[in-house]
Amino acid sequence: MSARGCARASAAEACAAVVSGPLARLKAWQRERRLERVRPQRADFERRLARFPMLAALPGPAREVLFERSTEILAGKDFFGAGGLEPDADDLLDVALLAALPVLNLGVDWYRGFHTFILYPAEFVAEVEQIDEDGLVHLGDEVRSGEAWAHGPVVLAMDEVRGSGQGEGFNVVAHELAHQIDQLNGDMDGYPPLPAGMEPARWAATFSAAWQRLQTELAQGAEPSMDPYAAESPAEFFAVASEMYFDVPGWLADTHPELYQQLDSLYQLSKWF
Ligand SMILES: [Zn+2]
Repeated sequence: MSARGCARASAAEACAAVVSGPLARLKAWQRERRLERVRPQRADFERRLARFPMLAALPGPAREVLFERSTEILAGKDFFGAGGLEPDADDLLDVALLAALPVLNLGVDWYRGFHTFILYPAEFVAEVEQIDEDGLVHLGDEVRSGEAWAHGPVVLAMDEVRGSGQGEGFNVVAHELAHQIDQLNGDMDGYPPLPAGMEPARWAATFSAAWQRLQTELAQGAEPSMDPYAAESPAEFFAVASEMYFDVPGWLADTHPELYQQLDSLYQLSKWF
């Protein structure tokens, strides 16, 4: 059947089947070429992985998926240096490896909301605008280790990236990417899209309760059960909780079992262990 024939409505369905075959194969071939160009050497993957205990602890099959996901991230995102950094292959691989963890099961399509990583050598100064209660705008500087812009780039400090994934409750990559996942369905509000089977009401109730618990602890001057930065906003609470889920999952499961369950239903990391 000719391509011209496909324009006829009466033949449309039959043509779709004919055209989708070769087209699908072409797309798959193009995708494989793109991945091939950036796929890390196995030795490099293992060498960089070893620097991040939380990644190195993944069982073999999960490491294979991490390898593919990080390749997909290297192929699908742009990486730019800033602040004098000219990122090398190790820099890109470190970011891609850590970025692969939150979407190990979800797939890299969950990063469709942004296209670019901007990498600084170390903590950077961000210009911030704050509006006070009288409506006056104040400009100021704030030191940051990472930033996730609304539908924009993910900005990371490489020394903080290298300090992530050590099992010490810090993972700036997971934190910033949780913000990106959060805003897939609109605002950064601590309410990301949920995979099929999850109950939105349960998510909301669990996060509200954990948020309230932290607010009460802080108000009473008690030892906070979560990094106080999480109390900044529901969006920060979700990002910090995600960071804990990936970096100190045992601690999170003990301290906030319900929260751990909800995050595990979203990210599904425990199925590998
Ligand atoms: Zn944040």
